[in-house]
Amino acid sequence: MVIKDILEKAVIELKNAGVDAPVMEAGALLCYVLKKDKSYIYSHRDYNLSDFLTNEFFELIEQRKKRKPYQYITGQQEFMSLNFMVNPNVLIPRQETEILVETLIQYCRTKGKVDILDIGTGSGCIAVSLAYYIKECSVTAIDISDEALNVAKFNAITNGVKEKINFLVCDILQETNLSAGASYDIVVSNPPYIVTDEIPKLQKEVREYEPRIALDGGEDGLLFYRKITEKASEVLKPGGLLAFEIGYNQGKDVSKIMEVKFSDIKVIKDLSGNDRVVTGYLKLLLK
Ligand code: GLN
Repeated sequence: MVIKDILEKAVIELKNAGVDAPVMEAGALLCYVLKKDKSYIYSHRDYNLSDFLTNEFFELIEQRKKRKPYQYITGQQEFMSLNFMVNPNVLIPRQETEILVETLIQYCRTKGKVDILDIGTGSGCIAVSLAYYIKECSVTAIDISDEALNVAKFNAITNGVKEKINFLVCDILQETNLSAGASYDIVVSNPPYIVTDEIPKLQKEVREYEPRIALDGGEDGLLFYRKITEKASEVLKPGGLLAFEIGYNQGKDVSKIMEVKFSDIKVIKDLSGNDRVVTGYLKLLLK
């Protein structure tokens, strides 16, 4: 079959399966199979593809038709201009999360060496990006999932920052093996924040393929914010920064949770104008 016909067929199949951007995804998957960029596809529309590559391509289209996320098919996602390996043990890094990372990079511009704790590191996208872009820092990245930590470690190695990150299996809801005492300048987390009852309403790609433990924020979606705020107040240095990613409607609630022990609380919006990040500083007097 020639490239033009292959793409046409794939687009129709993806469209019928309810995939959002079938033209873009069919093209991107073909590029992935051919290891070529988009311009190659457009300039070789009449090129006859081997049966082998054609079959390989349609096998991927089959997976996508079942609404497996594109990133789990190709096994990668770009984040902060770095490449991250992903698999179904980790949440796929989201563009919105770059706001959180950029806020911290900005904050560190005026600081010397910083010690950072990333809670629920998943793919390691936050920990690895911070280690990559902040010159003098040391990061502790924790997660309840061993499998996720393996992905995060892999991403630390491929992005050349393994020496700056210490990985630890740790359940933040239980008594943790984190050293108490004022150890960190920054605690950061993009915790699970979806209300349990909302999970069945999410896109099929998310609800059926992404890890539930990375999504489920409990009955009111705030379980981890409460727990992490408490924990952060124990492990941050006085004046230390706590920075969360939040859901678009959680700005008020999370600010309120932080208010008791944190001051100068700010809610920062993402590029779509939704509340996306909350930051605050550990009150000095309480320590
Ligand atoms: N820290 C990872 C991310 O931002 C994982 C977050 C999660 O699993 N909730 O993508």
